[in-house]
Amino acid sequence: MRVGFIGLGNMGAPMARNLAAAGHDVAGFDIAVPVPEGVDAADTATAAVAAREVAITMLPDGEILRSVANEIIPAMAPGTVMLDCSTVDVESARAVAELARSAGVHALDAPVSGGIGGAEAGTLTFMVGGTEDAVKAVTPLFDIMGHKAVHCGPSGNGQAAKICNNMILGATMIATCEAFALADKLGLDRQAMYDVVSTSSGYSWSMNAYCPAPGIGPTSPADNDYQPGFAAELMLKDLRLSQQAAEAVDADTPIGARATEIYSAFVEDEGGKGKDFSAMLPRFVARNRPAAR
Ligand code: NAD
Repeated sequence: MRVGFIGLGNMGAPMARNLAAAGHDVAGFDIAVPVPEGVDAADTATAAVAAREVAITMLPDGEILRSVANEIIPAMAPGTVMLDCSTVDVESARAVAELARSAGVHALDAPVSGGIGGAEAGTLTFMVGGTEDAVKAVTPLFDIMGHKAVHCGPSGNGQAAKICNNMILGATMIATCEAFALADKLGLDRQAMYDVVSTSSGYSWSMNAYCPAPGIGPTSPADNDYQPGFAAELMLKDLRLSQQAAEAVDADTPIGARATEIYSAFVEDEGGKGKDFSAMLPRFVARNRPAAR
C-alpha cells in the first residue's frame, strides 16, 4: 500500500520502519526528527499524504492531531483512510473523524498499547474506533505493526478503550505498590507477598506481569532501576485524559481521580519524571502515613 506517516518519534519511527521493511511504500514527515530507514522523506505533512491510500499519524496530543488533520485531510482523496494511532482525548478523535467524514475520508482512531518495545517488535495491540470497512482496509498494516487489533465500535471508542484500560492500570499499580510498602512495614517478605498475591484475588497485570518490586516475579523495569518501560509522565497523560473524559460525560471515577493526583504529584514534585510508572513503589516506601486525612 502507499502510506503517508506523520509523527516519527519513539513510536512512529519503528512503526513506519516496519511497514517499509514489509514492502509497503511509505513516505514520512516529522517537524523534528529525520525519517527512519526505508521511508521516503516528504517536505510537508501534506506532501507525505498526497496520493496515498492511508495516512497514519502518531503525534503527541489532541491539539496537534487536530492541527495536522486540518492540514492533511483536504489533500487526501475520498475513500482513503486516516489512521490515527496517537493517544488523544476522545473529543479530538471524534472531531477529526467528523472532519474526515465531511471530506469523504474514512477515519480510524487506533491508539496502541505495547510501548516502544512493542512498536519495534511489531507486537502492538490496537484499540480501534471507526467503521468496519475502514478497519478491513488497514488490517494488513495492523498485522505488520501489531499482533492484535480490537474493533471497539464507532469513532472515539478506540481512545475510550485505551483510557479506561490505563485508568485501571494506574490504579492497580498504585494499589500494588502501596500494598508492598505496607507489607514491608509489617515485616512480610516481598517474595512471600508476591507468591500469595500473584495466585490470589489481589492479582493483576501490575503484580503478575510487571511486578514493581526488584528481583521479584518476571523481569520488569524494577529490575533495571526503574528505567522506563512505560514512563510515569505517560501514565499521567493517560490518567488526565481519563478524567477529562469522565468530566465530559459526567462519570464518577473517584479512584481514577485519586490515581491522577498521585501520579501528578509523583511526576511534577517528587522526581518521578523519566522513571517507569512502577517507581511508585520506592515512592511509597519512602513515605509515612500522613498525619491526618
Ligand atoms: P514522541 O514525542 O517521541 O513522538 C511524537 C513525534 O511527533 C515527535 O517526533 C514530534 O516531532 C512529532 N510532531 C509533533 N508535532 C508534529 C507536527 N505538527 N507534524 C509532524 N510531526 C509532529 O512520542 P511517542 O512516544 O512516539 O508517542 C506518540 C503517541 O503514542 C503519543 O500520543 C503517546 O501518548 C502514544 N503512546 C506512546 C507510548 C510510549 O511508550 N512511548 C505508548 C503508547 C502510546
